Amino acid sequence: MTSKTLSAFLLNQLNELKDRGLYNTIDPLEGPNGPVIRMKGREFVNLSSNNYLGLATDKRLVDAAVEATIRFGVGSGAVRTINGTLALHVELEEKLAAFKGTEAAVAFQSGFNCNMAAISAVMGEGDAILSDELNHASIIDGCRLTKAKVIRYRHSDMDDLRTKAKEARESGAFGKIMAITDGVFSMDGDVAKLPDIAEIAESYDLITYVDDAHGSGVLGGGAGTVKHFGLSDRIDFQIGTLSKAVGAVGGYVAGTREVVDWLKARSRPFLFSTALPPGTVAACIEAIGILQESKQLQDRLWENAAYLRRGLQALGFSTGHTATPITPCMIGDEEKTQRFSARLYEEGVYAKAIVFPTVPKGTGRVRNMPTAEHTTKMLDRALAAYGKAGWELGLIR
Ligand SMILES: *Cc1c(COP(=O)(O)O)cnc(C)c1O
Repeated sequence: MTSKTLSAFLLNQLNELKDRGLYNTIDPLEGPNGPVIRMKGREFVNLSSNNYLGLATDKRLVDAAVEATIRFGVGSGAVRTINGTLALHVELEEKLAAFKGTEAAVAFQSGFNCNMAAISAVMGEGDAILSDELNHASIIDGCRLTKAKVIRYRHSDMDDLRTKAKEARESGAFGKIMAITDGVFSMDGDVAKLPDIAEIAESYDLITYVDDAHGSGVLGGGAGTVKHFGLSDRIDFQIGTLSKAVGAVGGYVAGTREVVDWLKARSRPFLFSTALPPGTVAACIEAIGILQESKQLQDRLWENAAYLRRGLQALGFSTGHTATPITPCMIGDEEKTQRFSARLYEEGVYAKAIVFPTVPKGTGRVRNMPTAEHTTKMLDRALAAYGKAGWELGLIR
């Protein structure tokens, strides 16, 4: 393909996305990703970040990152297995394990990368993976990197999981079988039924794998969904991200000493991609310390989420079946959802429309991500915009 035909091909594809209303324009921020953001010279109440606890912009983390950068430089210089492992990485991993209540932990360059790393390091040909149909894209891709058979089960449907686990085990066709799930599902804010999954896993000898990107720092006193359910010794793999509540970037896998040692020996992003930079690692160490010391930020987060949810419900909106600070405002029709989000934008509220194919057809919603840093005044401003735009579009009366 010449570059000319490639461009023509891609232009055609892009136009098709635009025609279907699926093309996302990206507005750069002109300042930090805090509770209020600046874009195009205007200010918006920000209800779209994953900066749950405000740590992305916290002075203590900034100072830790600056200090480590001055001492160790901006880069770690190599992959972890050559000589990119700094004492800071080891300190972070020890802290993460203690925080999670596991024997050990290993850090990766992102949460996405954890799923690229861990699934294919243990699952292979002749194995099977039971995967929730709404699992995150990085889990889906991580499964694709293996030669294991992927068996999808209906979202959080424990009867379906049990049936498929029984079938897979009793068929005798598979060696290892894994059950894999998000801890918190990011589009609806519902929590995986981990006690049932752990029980089913014990009945059919399944490996258990929970990607808790949205649960870490939010549930279980900050340690995540697994801790929340008291299952720390019954889940084999706990994935967390350092990019959401922890406020920096990176990810980690927490588990037994054997799991972690194996990932350090065999997982490809650990072996073939440069280690997290010192400033980031130092910021993460600081963040975990803050999470261990006090529940204040988590309490603020949950209070703000409850305030926003009650406010939306009082206006007459549905917030779906969330059980976490993720607060969808359910609209339904795709086009209406986009129009509603655009109206909120005009009113100075940045809350993204999430529509098919990210979520099922007819379940479009505007997703709100309140944080610990929002003030009541900011949330009231957002609610006033919701009321005005919702009334104009005939969504509420
Ligand atoms: C956000 C998310 C990731 C990706 O984490 P990053 O650190 O941003 O790469 C992975 N898994 C789940 C379930 C997520 O929600």
